[in-house]
Amino acid sequence: MTKRELLYEGKAKRIYKTEDENLFIAEFKDDLTAFDAQKRSQAKGKGALNCQISAHLFKLLEEYGIKTHFVECISDHEMVIKRAKMIMIEVVVRNIATGSLTKRLGIPDGTVLPFALVEFYYKNDELHDPLINDEHALILNLVEHESELEELKRLGREINVVLKSFFDKANLNLVDFKVEFGKDSQGNIILADEISPDSCRFWDKTSGEKLDKDLFRHDLGDVKVAYEEVLNRIQKVMQ
Ligand code: UDP
Repeated sequence: MTKRELLYEGKAKRIYKTEDENLFIAEFKDDLTAFDAQKRSQAKGKGALNCQISAHLFKLLEEYGIKTHFVECISDHEMVIKRAKMIMIEVVVRNIATGSLTKRLGIPDGTVLPFALVEFYYKNDELHDPLINDEHALILNLVEHESELEELKRLGREINVVLKSFFDKANLNLVDFKVEFGKDSQGNIILADEISPDSCRFWDKTSGEKLDKDLFRHDLGDVKVAYEEVLNRIQKVMQ
């Protein structure tokens, strides 16, 4: 598999065409951005860590019957993925209140939620990814049918069940995470993008220490060290 023309460059990844029209290559970058990309930096090796973490988690989810765009890794920072038409919704699942939820609703930081909360955000940088409800999503034609919104919620919850119990074994609380989905060539909804400490919050179950992008957002510590720790713990649990 070889990289052909660059199709898309995002904040954390570049997507390339390949000789197979149904497969792309995702290259994970070392760039770090936060607060609508107003805060920017780089952490050498971060892309490779996120690529490997995502690959492990995609494989894990596939074992539980959740379809993903992951095909295989071709280097430490590049993976072959299936071509999918992205659904412009960020699906956020929360187990513990923190971040924008505490700001928006005044729920104290660290409150364990009585059930997994699923939220939709409109993936639109110009509008700063606003929180939306089902009717907004339908009016914006982000999906073709209401049933697809139900499917996104169901998938978000299923992914949460698998990942939450997996990270529990790694002594990490899966606080919240964001996932994105696409439609494959047959119209199936598949998990796309990445699942990494850039898109999840992990708190050590014993110390409460943060092992995710909040370290960068709030200048709390070394991102690379924390992401390495997450990868090590994932590998240990998988052994
Ligand atoms: N998240 C993300 N990309 C975004 C917004 C949020 O990956 O553009 C993730 C974030 O890392 C966290 C979860 O989604 O795990 C919930 O984020 P929140 O809404 O609390 O936003 P924040 O406080 O990060 O602005």
